[in-house]
Parts: sequence; structure tokens; C-alpha cells
Amino acid sequence: MLSVKEATDRILSAFTPLGPEVVSLDQALGRVLSTPVTARLAHPPQAVSAMDGYAVRSVDVQQLPVRLKVVEAIAAGALPVRAIGANEAARIFTGAALPQGADAIVIQENTEKDGDHVRIVDGGAAIKGRHIRVAGNDFAEGQLGIPAGRRLTPSDIGLAAAMNWPWLTVTRKPRVAIISTGNELVQPGETVAPGQIIASNGFALAAFVTQSGGEAIHLGIARDEESALADLIDRAAGADLLLTSGGASVGEHDLVQGVLKSKGMALDFWKIAMRPGKPLMFGTLGTAKGALKVIGLPGNPVSAIVTSTLFVGPAIARMLGESEVGPRIVKARLAIDLPANDLRQDYLRSSVVEDETGFLATPFGKQDSAMLSALSRSGGLVIRPPHAPAAKAGAEVEMVRLG
Ligand code: AMP
Ligand code: MG
Repeated sequence: MLSVKEATDRILSAFTPLGPEVVSLDQALGRVLSTPVTARLAHPPQAVSAMDGYAVRSVDVQQLPVRLKVVEAIAAGALPVRAIGANEAARIFTGAALPQGADAIVIQENTEKDGDHVRIVDGGAAIKGRHIRVAGNDFAEGQLGIPAGRRLTPSDIGLAAAMNWPWLTVTRKPRVAIISTGNELVQPGETVAPGQIIASNGFALAAFVTQSGGEAIHLGIARDEESALADLIDRAAGADLLLTSGGASVGEHDLVQGVLKSKGMALDFWKIAMRPGKPLMFGTLGTAKGALKVIGLPGNPVSAIVTSTLFVGPAIARMLGESEVGPRIVKARLAIDLPANDLRQDYLRSSVVEDETGFLATPFGKQDSAMLSALSRSGGLVIRPPHAPAAKAGAEVEMVRLG
């Protein structure tokens, strides 16, 4: 059995970033940037007012009250037509270009209108540079805005737009085909006969793929028959990654590995020293449209999602060229004692609270890998390395943060 570290390294080294594609800004949220965004102009392009008020020469506005002649009004989008002289001011609005001669803004709240003059009253003393955004205050022309490898957030999209890019170059989305296996499985909403259960994994995995930035192709359920499985595997041709769930162990109905091998899959590894998720399989299947990587996930719903978090998410991140791959691992304190561990690395579903000292994790008493309800309530997976000695409440541990 491989260690989690070794399995991660082997999976990651098999994936490389996919090619780029151009998308409009309104399609770019959550995509991974493949060409850095640099500013095509400075922002703001010239000095502007940050407030509604009056543009003044600060030397004129030291002793209050003072009365200044208003020589023009400048709205956002307009350009000043004259410079400010001694004891003069310009009415100015947020975002409007600063007139020559002015070096401060007095906010409207500290002024009184007086015909074609303005009186600046208490609290309005001008401080040089106050409420002025200088040219390039946000960014200069040519400045790097967003590095490649970053997954775009709403503020990144705003920044890219402000840098005058109507479209962005992002990595193509990995196409991830998903096959569920099992004679006992029926779709949600169907009548569930005795002996049957609902096929939840396909939906969880498709959602996981989507959240990770991939394009999920839900191929459906294969019965535990070689021909049924082979048919669905053929339909995955053209995908970048195939995920199967179930049929991964050593039982007579566990056909996934055998069928894939009969189709020419080169097995990289099978079985990881971890719990849940031991029977995970990884290999490469040559297809007419190129190499298809295959991750065979365990059928138990918790195992399928935990192993996806540890291996599928990073594989997708690598294909996307993301600068950060891998689950978010944090330090936490244990709320309870834990016994010594055996040779498998445990990922204990835990309730998690966060306070000013950090995360406090309480592993659930039942760690059954079929208990999706417990996984859904988990704020994290406490990591128990192989052969870890017994731990007391308060001990620091590593935890995969969920949610
Ligand atoms: P298997 O690896 O096929 O033996 O499956 C292990 C366990 O996971 C069995 O109890 C299956 O019924 C269950 N299981 C397999 N596939 C799914 C699925 N798609 N959704 C929910 N449970 C599943
Ligand atoms: Mg099965």
C-alpha cells in the first residue's frame, strides 16, 4: 500500500496544465488565469477628487472662515477648463479631474454656498493632498494586476475590467467523466425496491468537479456486468479524466480494474494506506482521442468524497495550472482524547469550532465510511498519521478544512 504522500505525488506528476482559451469577462468567474493581467492604462488616468466638494489651493484655506470665488464646476467625465488662482475654488464632484493649481479638496459638508462664492467654515481647513487620488493611485500602466495560475474572484474580474481587458485568457476546463457502478443503485426520485439504494456518489462527484473548476460529464450508472461497464467507459473517450465510483475492491462484483485493464489501462497504483479510501486506483487508458487518466474511487460515499478532496481536486487544479493545489490543511486542537493509530492514515470526520485561539476539532464517535450525514456536518478531517501515538485532548493536530 502506498502512503498518501506517495499517492499524491504520483497522481500530480501525471497531470499537466491544459491549453488556454479566451473568455469574455462575464464568463471568467472561477476560471484560472493562464496569461497574467497587466494594466493597459493607469487608474485613475489623472488626479481626481475622491469627494464631492471644492478644489482649492491649500494655502488659501488655513484661517477660517474664508470666502473663495467659484470659477467653474467640474463633473465626473468633464475636464477643467481653467486653473485655480489665489482665493479661487472650483466646484468638484467625486471622480472629476482636478483643475491645475488645486492641491486639496474641501468636502461639501464644511462649506456654505454664497452666490458665486463659497464660504469655508469650521472643520474645513485644507490639508495638501487631502481627498485627492493622484494619477496611478490604484495602478500604473503596465503594472501586473493578476498573476497566471489564479482562480478569478469577483474583485479580480473588476480589476481586469479596470485594466481595460474585455476578455481574459484562461485554462480550458478539464472534462471529467463520471461513472457510478453497482446493481443496487437507483437514481434519486425513483422507487427504491428492497435491496436497492440511491446512487448519491455521481451527484456528489459532479458537484465536486464543478466546484473544483472542471466540467463534469455524468455518464450514469453501470450495472456490475463487464459489458455494461465497458460501454460506459467507451463513452468517456475525449475526457481528460475518468472517475469511477464503486467496484474497486476485491469482491467478485468489483469489475472496474479488470474491465479497464482489458481495455489496455496501464495501472499506476491501487490501494493507499488510508482510512477511508483504501481501494483507490489510478491508471492511464490510451484511447483514440489520447490518454485518459482514470481514478477509480471507492464506492462508499464518504470514501469517495474524502479521496476526491485529497486526489481529484489537486489533479484538476494541476490541469488548470492553479498556483495552489491540494486541500486546505490547517492546525487544530483536539477536543477529546484519541487512541494510538495503526498503519493507515486516518481522516477523522469532525465537528469544528473556530475561536480566537484557532480551530477546536471533535472527531465524531462513529467513523463509518457510509455515513454521509456525518461528513456533511464535518467542518474538517482530523489527520491521524500512520502509527500515531495516543493523543490527549488539547494536542495539536493537522486537519483538512472542509467548507
Ligand atoms: P463497492 O466498492 O462497489 O463495493 O461499494 C461500496 C459501498 O458503497 C457499497 O455499500 C455500495 O452500495 C456503496 N455505493 C457504491 N456506489 C455508490 C453510489 N454511487 N452512491 C452511493 N453508494 C454507493
Ligand atoms: Mg459495487
